[in-house]
Amino acid sequence: MSEHDSPARHPADTEPFDYLIVGAGFAGSVLAERLTADGKRVLVVEKRAHIGGNAYDTYDDAGVLIHPYGPHIFHTNSADIFEYLSRFTEWRPYEHRVLASVDGQLVPMPINLDTVNALYGLNLTSFEVEDFFASRAEEVEQIRTSEDVVVSKVGRDLYRKFFQGYTRKQWGLDPSELDASVTARVPTRTTRDDRYFTDTFQAMPRHGYTRLFQNLLRDVPVMLSTDYRDVIGLIPHRHLIFTGPIDVFFDQCYGALPYRSLTFKHETHATEVFQPTGTVNYPNDHGYTRVSEFKYITGQQHPQTSVVYEYPQAHGDPYYPVPRPENAELYRRYEALAKTRPDVTFVGRLATYRYYNMDQVVAQALATYRRLAGLAQGAD
Ligand SMILES: Cc1cc2nc3c(=O)[nH]c(=O)nc-3n(C[C@H](O)[C@H](O)[C@H](O)COP(=O)(O)OP(=O)(O)OC[C@H]3O[C@@H](n4cnc5c(N)ncnc54)[C@H](O)[C@@H]3O)c2cc1C
Repeated sequence: MSEHDSPARHPADTEPFDYLIVGAGFAGSVLAERLTADGKRVLVVEKRAHIGGNAYDTYDDAGVLIHPYGPHIFHTNSADIFEYLSRFTEWRPYEHRVLASVDGQLVPMPINLDTVNALYGLNLTSFEVEDFFASRAEEVEQIRTSEDVVVSKVGRDLYRKFFQGYTRKQWGLDPSELDASVTARVPTRTTRDDRYFTDTFQAMPRHGYTRLFQNLLRDVPVMLSTDYRDVIGLIPHRHLIFTGPIDVFFDQCYGALPYRSLTFKHETHATEVFQPTGTVNYPNDHGYTRVSEFKYITGQQHPQTSVVYEYPQAHGDPYYPVPRPENAELYRRYEALAKTRPDVTFVGRLATYRYYNMDQVVAQALATYRRLAGLAQGAD
């Protein structure tokens, strides 16, 4: 990869690139790697000053490895995805654990047996806690919203303690206004299992995400600090792959797709350990939703430690597509427009307006690659 401002081509070389790829996150970088390995001529254009998209990591002034765009923990159930990425990184096993600050205590999140026993001063077994949840659960005829999901599973008290405030902060909406799918991501457990994720593969890139991206893009020219709109007319190419926000691509002609944004407040402390686990959630207090301490996540040894506070915002960089039916409807209008552009492929979290994790974006990019490769073969 060359990180300078001009593509690696001879000036007299007027052959168009086979693919111009907008965005050097997982979607763009995986496609760039696959297509380049097939002998295609690829150029990546990235408007930020670095590769990696939101998964980018870097060392702060104190020398602690941090994730500037919030903590990124890799987990997947797909052996194929894990094996593919293993070509570009070694791994360090890591299982993320989250505590929630509720009623003056730090208790495991997702809610498990220990959470219930600690909060209510009980000594229940796994079997008994199942009855406890059942006795608290409210009957909901049709599960439509996030509130319905939680209340029908664990009742209103736990809903208020753990979900309502957190969701209001995170999305700026009450759980009763959000799709059921949002909270379906946070299960409860009747065991003492306190891992945040239960996927088969849970590990962090041993030398960080940026190194993984450098390896993915080793043979690919990348133009950093460049908005594709400023150069697209100057760079001959056969096909465009777009991984930015789909509404922006179409000049928001149907209106802006709603995204939730975040402000990150990074701090370094002159102590080895700041908090008892990788992430502490604050569902009910403070303007921030959670505090994450990077050394747990990266495994780095360092006499100081760096943490990040996340403050959800209505405006700013687009991070989370807001999962409401009317937004899905608006996205479908842009998707229909995208279908009229066979010269462009839309892929990734922002271009398909989906709340995808990294492994899902890698899977989507690999599926897109297979489709493009198949199409190209068909056209030959
Ligand atoms: C706070 C936060 C925490 C997360 N934590 C996790 C986690 O723990 N585990 C997990 O699996 N996933 C996590 N994710 C999700 C993860 O970040 C995404 O799945 C992944 O980064 C998406 O990759 P992408 O390539 O689709 O998009 P991005 O990483 O957003 O990459 C898109 C790139 O396109 C560039 N771009 C946009 N417009 C233009 C333009 N006009 N010109 C040039 N370039 C442009 C952008 O600058 C960006 O670099 C988290 C996300 C957030 C916001």
